Parts: sequence; structure tokens; C-alpha cells
Amino acid sequence: MAEDSHAIGIDLGTTYSCVATWQADHVEILVNDHGNRTTRSYVTFTDSKRLVGDEAFNQAGRFPTNSIFDAKRLIGRRFSDETVQSDIKRWPFKVIRGEADKPMIVIKHKGQEKLFAAEDISSMVLAKMREIAEAFHCSKISEKKAVITVPSYFNDSQRQATLKAGKLAGLNVLRIINEPTAAAIAYGIDKKAGWFNKRNVMIFDWGGGTLDVSLLTIGHGVFDVKATAGDTHLGGEDLDNRMVDYCVDEFKTKNEVDICGNPKALRKAKTVCEKAKKALSFCFDIDIVIDSWYNGEDFNTNFTRDKFEEMNMDIFNKCMELVKRCLKDAKMDISDVNDVVLVGGSSRIPKVQELLQKFFMGKELCKSINPDEAVAYGAAVQAAVLSGNVTGKLQDFTLLDVIPMSLGTECGHENRMAVMIPRNTKIPTKKHQIFTTLRDNQTSVLCGVFEGENELTRDNNYLGGFTMYGIPPAPKGVAKVDVCFFIDANGILNVSAEVMSTGQKKAITINSDR
Ligand code: AMP
Repeated sequence: MAEDSHAIGIDLGTTYSCVATWQADHVEILVNDHGNRTTRSYVTFTDSKRLVGDEAFNQAGRFPTNSIFDAKRLIGRRFSDETVQSDIKRWPFKVIRGEADKPMIVIKHKGQEKLFAAEDISSMVLAKMREIAEAFHCSKISEKKAVITVPSYFNDSQRQATLKAGKLAGLNVLRIINEPTAAAIAYGIDKKAGWFNKRNVMIFDWGGGTLDVSLLTIGHGVFDVKATAGDTHLGGEDLDNRMVDYCVDEFKTKNEVDICGNPKALRKAKTVCEKAKKALSFCFDIDIVIDSWYNGEDFNTNFTRDKFEEMNMDIFNKCMELVKRCLKDAKMDISDVNDVVLVGGSSRIPKVQELLQKFFMGKELCKSINPDEAVAYGAAVQAAVLSGNVTGKLQDFTLLDVIPMSLGTECGHENRMAVMIPRNTKIPTKKHQIFTTLRDNQTSVLCGVFEGENELTRDNNYLGGFTMYGIPPAPKGVAKVDVCFFIDANGILNVSAEVMSTGQKKAITINSDR
């Protein structure tokens, strides 16, 4: 295989991932070895081998405790986080508390117990996406250039861990960008806005497991996240589960057998119901057929779109509530929104599109790009620009991004957050501030690093820190410490401090292990 210079864009999703590349003046979504344009974010350890992607998903039923999914829900988080604790309860695989409160996934492989961090599992999925790209480009190189997307609400730790996963997968990660930013780029909304106008864009991203609604203001080459709302546990899978429950009830009525305690039968039904649900976005009714579902009994029922909508109307209304909340948090009216972009497979559902269009007073929705591919599409455009592989159309893309949460320190303020870099600052950026001692003869200062919008540091997220010793004794307010926050283009933070009278320095890069 030959060397190549094609950069790729990867949408590393909770349930599915997608990879794309810029090729001969257009974006190409790359098809995997199963002929699919999106790939399951699954890793399954069988008795003898490790499977990744669609094959891993297909074998998951045989190895339920060794099939890992949802790694994105764990990445960069602490074991003790409330969301991690509640997710663990519904996963068939085991997660334990590792060093520094890091969640570790436990699997059994070739007779041995093995531990994996979420970034290890994500790196396996990313390596699969890389292989898909290599097969397309007929090339294999030591480091493939890539842009990877993350939700805009991901904090520094989650971004760092995603970056680490990319490196482990042998990718040269050019940049980590926000998913709504990538979707807006896919539709060229930054170009529509140009340098002198601004556009407010709502990105409605409804995937298999999560709903993310974001409001961006785009202009002057900046993608400014004004507000985000969503539900990390509301997705297409909830709709599948409702359909499965319906089938189970009907089977019970017809056959007087309750199969809700049979995981194998339920898994079979889920696959069939998901297919039926997808079909109902394009036709008005469908036959749900599950061959020899239980004890050799077949199941067959006709299911209409009307029934589907009626059954899930509360879920659709919840989606609309989150759209309203996002607008309210951004302090905008419906008429302020210039574009509404649909992302995620579940946004194909006609009822959802109808409710959104009605809410936005008949506005045409941006849906010409496949919604499950829009994020990878935008990431591929940005990857091409960043790697210098641009031709014609792409040349004037601008690539600024902003930080989602304020970053600061309590250095010299005792429990109060001194904001060093306010949220929505364009990155990369570097900010200095001089702090001084609060007590006479104070010889050390604590440099804690926090993110968040609260006045007291204890209400914000602690990212890391260090103590600066060796300050020469002096009356309070005399010794000076120069603190510098530097965020690179990936949103990764380096913090340094220098005692100005002695030149003594200390620095840290905040990593996901904290
Ligand atoms: P994503 O994570 O964005 O790839 O979205 C995956 C989710 O979208 C899954 O729950 C799919 O079942 C769902 N999905 C994909 N296509 C359709 C469709 N045509 N109608 C309804 N849901 C769909």
C-alpha cells in the first residue's frame, strides 16, 4: 500500500460512528466492510478474538458481558459521577473503580480478566474507522491525520481522553471540534454568514441514545455556542424499546406467554423493531415479523405510522420542550433563528420534522445531508482544510472555535474563582495574570485549576493543580506570581506559574486522569 496524505473526519458516536474524507472536490462518506456508511461503536471480546464495529454488534448477544458499547458515556468521567453510577446499572458489562476514581471496564478474554479504560475502547473504535479509511485510500501509514468530533458540552477531561483515544488508534489528531460546529460547517453556514453578518443556527441532534440541542451564533469565522440543552438518555433506542414492549404484550395476549424475562428473545425483537421503526419514516405501515420468536412460535403484526406516533408522542413533546429551553437559555426568540439543522438518525422521523417546522413557523429545515453523516461530513471538510489538502471550494473556510466553559484559578483568591479565560473565547488563546500573597511571610500558593461559571471554586469542576513553593518571605501583597493559561487548538489546557522575583516555574497539562 502507498503512503497517503488524505485527512479524515470522524464522528465518534455513542451508538454509531462515521468516517468521511475530502476527495476530488466533494466529501465522501466511507463505507465499512459490511457495506454500511455508519459503524456500530461496539467492541466484543469473544473466546478467541476481539471484534470491533458491526461484527462486534452482531456477536454481542453471544457474549453479553464481554460486549462493550456506550464508551462515550464513560470517557473522561469519574467512577463516582452520578451519571456513571446510573449507567452502570443498565449495562450488561462490568465497570469498577480504578485508580484516581477512573472507571475501568472489566472483561474476560482468553481465560484472563482484563481491564480497559473508556479511551481504550474508543481507541479500538477509532482504529476501526481508520482501517475503513485506509481501505478506501488504499494506504496504510503510521499516523493518519484526523479531526474528531465531541459534544459541545464535553469538558476538558472528556476532550483530553478523546484525544488520547485518537493517539492510541494511531491517528494524528489535527483537532477536536464540537459536533454542532461540524454540522454547521457541513451545511456551509459559516460561509453564508460571511465576515460581516451573523447567523443563529439551531442544531437538533437526535441519535440512538442522546438528544443534543445547541444554538450557535456563527459569524466572523467564529462558532459561538450560545446554549445547549438535551437529554443524555433520550434517543432512538427508547422508541425501539416501546415497540418491543408492544410486541411482547401482543404475543402475551395471543399466546399466553410472557417473554419479557428472556434477553435473547428481546434482543431479537429489538433488531426487528429498529428496522421497522426506520421503515416507518418512509412508509405508512409495516409488518413486524419475528420468526420463531419463542418456542418455535412466529410473531406477526401490522404496525402503522399513526400507532408509532401516538405511542411516542410524549417523547416527541419532550424533544420540543428541550428545543424551547435551549432558545430560552440563549435568550433568543423563534424569529432570531436563521437555520435549523437536523443531525442524527432519529431526526428522520417525519413527526419530529413536522413539529420542528411548525415550531419554527414553517422554516425549511436543513436536511439535505444524511443526518447520521452530517457531523462526519463537516469534520472531513475541516480535516482537509487543516491538513492543507484544499482545492477550489474549500479554500476560504475559517476554523476558529471557542471554549465551552470559563477556565480559572483560585490562586491568590482563596476559594473564589478568578476567571482567566472566559467562556466563548476563541481558541487557541493565552492569558496571563499576576497574583500576589494574601498573608505576611506566605511562602507557597495553591494553583488550583477549575472550569465553570460559578463564583466559588467549590461549585465548579476541579481539573487539577499544584502548589508553588519557595516564595521568598515578605509582607502580604509583595511577592508576585505570574500565572499563565494556554489553550491549544484542541481545547487542551496548559497552566504555568512563575514566582517573579526568583524565576522559579511550575507547570501542568491537565490530563484526563487528573
Ligand atoms: P445516530 O447515532 O445519529 O447514527 O442515530 C442512530 C439512531 O437513529 C438509531 O436509533 C436509529 O434507529 C435511528 N434511525 C436511523 N434511521 C432512522 C429512520 N429512518 N427513522 C427513524 N430512526 C432512524
